[in-house]
Amino acid sequence: MTTVGVLALQGAFIEHVQRLRELGAQAVEVRLPGDLKGLDGLILPGGESTTIGKLATAFGLIEPLRQFSHDRPVWGTCAGMIFLARDIGMDRQPILGVMDIAVNRNAFGRQIDSFETGLAIKGLEGGPFHAVFIRAPVITSAGPEVEVLATLDDGRIVAARQGQTLVTAFHPELTPDPRLHEYFLSTAESARLR
Ligand code: GLN
Repeated sequence: MTTVGVLALQGAFIEHVQRLRELGAQAVEVRLPGDLKGLDGLILPGGESTTIGKLATAFGLIEPLRQFSHDRPVWGTCAGMIFLARDIGMDRQPILGVMDIAVNRNAFGRQIDSFETGLAIKGLEGGPFHAVFIRAPVITSAGPEVEVLATLDDGRIVAARQGQTLVTAFHPELTPDPRLHEYFLSTAESARLR
């Protein structure tokens, strides 16, 4: 069975755990470095990236998470995407810095800081994905090893991957569509079988 961890410090982790279990995977809540042992992949949920960064620092998770991200598939959603980014502009907060993307936090301003839209995602069959954006970030630049998977109509990047690392600016765990979780599970499964 594929075993996937969900960083459970703050934010929307329960929804990811539930979705993984619905899809037949084993889901483990990660709060301490030892919880990473034996995982085939890891999800960093949405929430508040400043809080997640502070708690990860307090629990000694920053280096273990960096190491895990180099070895195994990791998927960051929303705040999790911010946490994985190399560059988050002026903001001073702990990040992992393992993916070659620059990210703009709260990119959509106050009035429309939450919205939903249908997104065509590269590699995902079956039509647009209903994407829920909540005070979401966008990717403002991506390095040469980063593959862009989805953009908004105005061209801003909202999903990408770099090797085994996947990021989405929206919250796929809040809609019933299982395709992105299935996609990540298959990455984690093939990493395990390698
Ligand atoms: N605005 C949040 C942050 O900067 C992210 C929001 C989310 O994860 N839904 O961390």
